[in-house]
Amino acid sequence: MKISVKDILSQRSNFEGTIPSNALDVDCEYWQLDSDAWVSVDAYRVGDYVDLAIYVEADVLLTCTRCLEEVRSHRNWKFSHHIKIVSELQEINITQLVREEIILSIGMKNLCREDCQGICPVCGGNRNLGECKCN
Ligand SMILES: [Zn+2]
Ligand SMILES: [Zn+2]
Repeated sequence: MKISVKDILSQRSNFEGTIPSNALDVDCEYWQLDSDAWVSVDAYRVGDYVDLAIYVEADVLLTCTRCLEEVRSHRNWKFSHHIKIVSELQEINITQLVREEIILSIGMKNLCREDCQGICPVCGGNRNLGECKCN
């Protein structure tokens, strides 16, 4: 998804689009995009700068770091960019900006839910499904 700099005017305009998950290429072992990303960009021009407010939504498939269950969740990201317009800049690569933002957001700790009980170190049972007999 790219926006041509000449299409960005001094009044706020909105650009919407879908970026295929394979174009974003953000998947790792324990965190994958499970849908294409829907993107909405509010853009306007102030002098030599372009202001972008970007909103992204997608489904994510992640492996909980505590209980190792795979969970699917709907996520959104909101971020902004302030880009200086130089003569070589013909278009703004939104896919690249979204990709960087998503990668930054993938933490080391991904939980299926905030209070995930994890797995029992003795029997390996999932404690979210109830107490095991080890206690
Ligand atoms: Zn969990
Ligand atoms: Zn146990």
